[in-house]
This record gives sequence, C-alpha cells and structure tokens, in this order.
Amino acid sequence: MSHLRLDPQSGQWVHVAARRMHRPLTDSAAGCPFCPVPPDAPASVRAASEAPDAGYDVAVFENRFPAMGGEADPLGALSPSGCAAPAEGHAEVVLYAPRHDVHLATLPEAKVRLLVEVWRQRTLAMEADPCVACVFVFENRGHDVGQTIDHPHGQIYGYPWVPPRIAEEAARVRCFHAEEGECLQCALLRRDEGEGARVVEADGAWVALVPFAPRFPAEVHIVPRRHVGGLPALDDHEVASLARLLRRAVARYDRLHGVPMPYMMCLYQRPREMVEGDLWHMRLAFYPLLRGLGRLKYLAASESGAGAFLLDAAPEDMAAALRAVAL
Ligand SMILES: [Zn+2]
Ligand SMILES: [Zn+2]
Repeated sequence: MSHLRLDPQSGQWVHVAARRMHRPLTDSAAGCPFCPVPPDAPASVRAASEAPDAGYDVAVFENRFPAMGGEADPLGALSPSGCAAPAEGHAEVVLYAPRHDVHLATLPEAKVRLLVEVWRQRTLAMEADPCVACVFVFENRGHDVGQTIDHPHGQIYGYPWVPPRIAEEAARVRCFHAEEGECLQCALLRRDEGEGARVVEADGAWVALVPFAPRFPAEVHIVPRRHVGGLPALDDHEVASLARLLRRAVARYDRLHGVPMPYMMCLYQRPREMVEGDLWHMRLAFYPLLRGLGRLKYLAASESGAGAFLLDAAPEDMAAALRAVAL
C-alpha cells in the first residue's frame, strides 16, 4: 500500500509506503529471505523466502514492501487540502547470486556482466509500461546506508515521475546543449581526461573518475566514452567493460580503508522525456560513506537541511588514493 504526496514548499513528490516499516532486518544467512531454500525445507521456511530455488545466476522479483506499484492506498481518506496521487510504477529486487557471502567485487566478472545485462533487460521491460517516467538502478550496501538484508542485491525503481536530481540535471543538460551545441557530459569527460588528476582508471569504452565537485568522499563516476543515453543502447563490449570497471571500483573501495565500504550505487540513464532528442549521457555513480576508518560521512544539517555538501578532502587527492590501491 503506497501513495505519493506533493510537498508544496519544495514542489517535490514524496513516496509514502507505511508497510515498509515492517521490512525484515537480517545480517546473517540464517533466516535470510533472499537465500534459496532447499526443496525439502518446511513449508513455513519456504513461505518466508522471497528467493527462487538454488538454481539461478541472477534473480529479479517485485519488492514485497514496495515504495511504489502494488496495491494503491485509497486516496479519498487523505486530507482534501493536500495533493496526493497513486504511487504507480515498479519496485524490483535484483539478487546478484544465490550465495549470501559474495558482493560485486568478489563475484566472477562474467556474473557481473550478466547482472548488467539483466539491468538492461529490466530497463526495457519497465519502459514498456507507459506510467514509468524514469528507470533507476541502484544498490544500497551496508547498514550505514540503510541496507536491511545483507544478501547481495540491488534494486530497480520505475518511477511514475522524474525525480528532482534527474529533472534538475535534465534541465542543465538541455541548457548546456542550447548554449554550447554539445553534450555536457561529453565536454566534462574531455576536460577530466585532459586534466588527468581525477581519473582513477579507464579503458577503450569507459572512464572511472572522481568528479570535479563531488558530494561524497571518494565519489566515483563511471562514464561511457560514447554518447549513450541508457543501458538499452550499450553494445556487448560496453556491457563487459562496465562490469569490469564497476567490479574494480568496489574492490578499490573495500581496500581503501581495509573494511567493506558502505556505499550507494546509482545508475543515471535518460528519463523517458529525453529518449527523443538524445541529449542525455548515462553514467554510473558510487557514493561511498566512509571518510576514513571509523569515520562516517553523515548527511547532516547542511547537507540534509540546506542541500549544501561539505567535503574534507580534495577530489584530486581522493582519486590518487583510489589509484594507489593495489588490485
Ligand atoms: Zn542470504
Ligand atoms: Zn555525451
């Protein structure tokens, strides 16, 4: 049960999904709803599991506690003075592997490639639903970013609206193109590669770099060299290369401070309204939360209350530290 409410002061929609309070919390394989259950397990254990049986590589299913989609709340009972809408859309869970104790950096490269292929197929499937305005692939890793189940997994949201960060960026992309006659990301990539200090690593298809003005410590963006708007337009070589670089990025994070890095991974691809026009240039971004061993970056008053991010290290130094990690 969920719905959307419009905040008149920010002009932004908020997803209200009261049932999400009852999501399970687990940090071990025992009782994990994403671990496959053997066919001879008791019926109660099978009922609690959301995972298919052991024989899968990557599995996708609708979130049992969705922020959108599923059964709609009756809007008539809400305050008549507020603006509310049904939370249409999709919320899917993607299991990376049947095993509980792996993650993106320890999965074989071929499995990560399959995962990217699954993202591409689910993007196409969600975009076939006319109510979906924007498909967002992401992973929250670690309890510090709100991961409630430790089993390696990510999620895919098919939003019924264009979320504010993506809408703001779309406006800037359009504006830059109107003024400069080219893609903003293509221009930034040229500059960043030219300067070199913020590049972490690159191959013929993608560049992994710390952006000029990141918001998180050791933030990394992985950007395709080709002007590509989203996963459906990637060729097989680009899929394989993305899988390799994102896997290596997580390996660098986990060795940077010697502990698993809590992070948010977000894939920015063109919203539906920008499919035509081809102005959007996709990227995958990692937002890590550790500033150092035992030192978490909090989204505190300035970040959460004013939207102003503070960094305590130079992006060029962050890139140098990531480059220096031995893989
Ligand atoms: Zn598990
Ligand atoms: Zn471009």
